[in-house]
Amino acid sequence: MSSQQLDQIQLTRLKGVGPALEKKFHQLGIYNVQDLLFHLPLRYEDRTRIDSIGRVSVGEHVQLQGEIVSSNIQFGRRRSLHCVLRDNSGVISLRFFHFSAAQKKSLEPGNQLRCYGEVRRGRSGMEMYHPEYRVIRDLENEPVPETLTPIYPSTDGLQQGRLRNVARQALDILERSNQVRDYLPAELVNKLGLHGLTEAIKLIHQPPADAPLGWMSEEMNPGHKRLAFEELLAHRLCMRRFKNDSSKQTAPKMDADNELITRYLRQLPFTLTNAQQSAYQEIARDLNSVCPMLRLLQGDVGSGKTVVAALSALHALGCGYQVAIMAPTEILAEQHLYNFREWFEPLGIFVGWLSGKTKAAERKQLLESLASGETQLLIGTHALFQEGVVYGKLGLIIIDEQHRFGVHQRLALRDKAASDNLNPHQLVMTATPIPRTLAMSAYADLDSSIIDELPPGRTAVNTAIISSERRDEVIQRIDKACSEGNQAYWVCTLIEESEALQCQAAEATADYLTRLLPHLAIGLIHGRMKPKQKMQVMEQFKQGFLKLLVATTVIEVGVDVPNASLMVIENPERLGLAQLHQLRGRIGRGSVHSHCLLLYQTPLSENSKQRLTVIRESSDGFYIAEKDLELRGPGQVLGTQQTGLMTFRVADIGRDATLLDAVRDASEVVLKQYPEIVDPLIRRWLGDRVNYVYV
Ligand code: ADP
Ligand code: MG
Repeated sequence: MSSQQLDQIQLTRLKGVGPALEKKFHQLGIYNVQDLLFHLPLRYEDRTRIDSIGRVSVGEHVQLQGEIVSSNIQFGRRRSLHCVLRDNSGVISLRFFHFSAAQKKSLEPGNQLRCYGEVRRGRSGMEMYHPEYRVIRDLENEPVPETLTPIYPSTDGLQQGRLRNVARQALDILERSNQVRDYLPAELVNKLGLHGLTEAIKLIHQPPADAPLGWMSEEMNPGHKRLAFEELLAHRLCMRRFKNDSSKQTAPKMDADNELITRYLRQLPFTLTNAQQSAYQEIARDLNSVCPMLRLLQGDVGSGKTVVAALSALHALGCGYQVAIMAPTEILAEQHLYNFREWFEPLGIFVGWLSGKTKAAERKQLLESLASGETQLLIGTHALFQEGVVYGKLGLIIIDEQHRFGVHQRLALRDKAASDNLNPHQLVMTATPIPRTLAMSAYADLDSSIIDELPPGRTAVNTAIISSERRDEVIQRIDKACSEGNQAYWVCTLIEESEALQCQAAEATADYLTRLLPHLAIGLIHGRMKPKQKMQVMEQFKQGFLKLLVATTVIEVGVDVPNASLMVIENPERLGLAQLHQLRGRIGRGSVHSHCLLLYQTPLSENSKQRLTVIRESSDGFYIAEKDLELRGPGQVLGTQQTGLMTFRVADIGRDATLLDAVRDASEVVLKQYPEIVDPLIRRWLGDRVNYVYV
């Protein structure tokens, strides 16, 4: 095996990886051993010691071990498996809302296990929901890990334990072969004093036990610096190449016929803000040119980007071209569908819908009408650009991305939609302002329009920072607000590697709140529900049948319920400021004075305190984004993916800002002197994401 290049080694060659598991890895964009090595931890957990059950407290992440003394299924609002674990200092409950027969068996009384998870206040006192656990025969002699435990980004059905095991095997192979190709020319490596690639990778996957938990985000970590540099370089190269290509391509020139636009504006219940008007004018100028538009539409939450998108769409439609509008989640795409149907169908425009869940027969019909041009506007998720979707005459792609993807990854989508000689124009809407520091370096070559003014009549949101020890008070407050006719959100932001865990947290919270507030109509919405279910819940909330909506961060994008005036955000300290700002943007949309309560876990670090203060004191997305960069320093136990800014694996624009100039210079050197490494570098770091498969 060792003489082989690591990117040639199939995953199924590793122990325990069969075709089914391999598929899971494919979902993560991992196809070979090299990909595994570049699948980097989000964060670390310290499992080098065992905690005593008697000494844990709510909110802590702990590793416990002991004997199961009871195990039974409880029926409440939601069925759950409830086990009691005992060590010589006390007992604690473990609760599972989802469990297989095999799991139930493994959790039978008398079995010994070791588990890791967060302690919460539950039905029976201290509880852990879905802890990661292992049944162990001889607890006394079971060793604890010697390095910090990496937590990787994962996908449903792929457990951390599995993932870690496979990653460890990949590291072993690396150790034996040293065959991960170092593409960076020695000239650059020496000049910048960077670490070797192999060494850097090992440090990141298996940090020594005495490394701080926030190690991923610490500044001058050499392993990190090396990888961050390479990653930033790959992104920059991707962007440069893309921009180069696009200036050589041709797009349809659209000379707007203003009739549709005039009719649309007449039916709107408000007039455009100046900022909306000028943004559209900039877009119109681009559309009326043969050079493909590549424009970012930046605007704070609630600034009215959708209307500008509608104008742009009408511009293209009026010229006889089709338009595609893509959103990162079903729920957001559905929201657009709802709006655009209401706006456009009176104008005689046919609006189609396509998501990954569209049924075969429906899909077939839609594809036909798309090819024939009958469907003029198509709305959906990334399914809009999957195999087999062929547009008759696509002229404009609009992507409402909020903040999920790196900008150039999204822009690259256009290539998929290009027909032989014409490229559609492309508009990307983003509510995450790109801070100036970043705009000046990596993103300098993108066109952008900024909506810097909110529609009139918005009420400021009053934001308070509250310790979760005052949870009961907060619950009282919700009760009061809701009985006075207002509506509220309770957002569970357990940021984890798996969406499943986040959904479980929301389920548990809904369960708990329902028990405490039995007279309130409480709904639950999360990403794992069926689209129809989600729609129903949203509709019930919109109509006011539901007073309180417990949600995961699925609601951060696009949800628009003006009567909702109170929002509780749990664990806000774990989120990026941009994301918090997004979430908060869901309230303050109506005439009632709105309140946002940031319910943090004690103790709050100094840095987190400062970050939350920024949110409390400002409602300006640009200012918040700048501050986010400034304050995201060491001490934050979070992976970079979660910051809400950019989807880098290692790099963190705030922390690594000092590398940006070197990256820019290096990219010029590479393009001129080492063009052969451009492709491999892009593939390594952006992989399939370049093609937008990574959703
Ligand atoms: P975002 O930029 O966050 O996507 P939306 O496009 O969803 O914002 O707009 C937020 C809300 O503001 C919507 O309810 C929309 O109808 C309303 N809106 C948009 N433009 C205006 C305007 N010029 N005047 C008043 N309300 C507006
Ligand atoms: Mg929007």
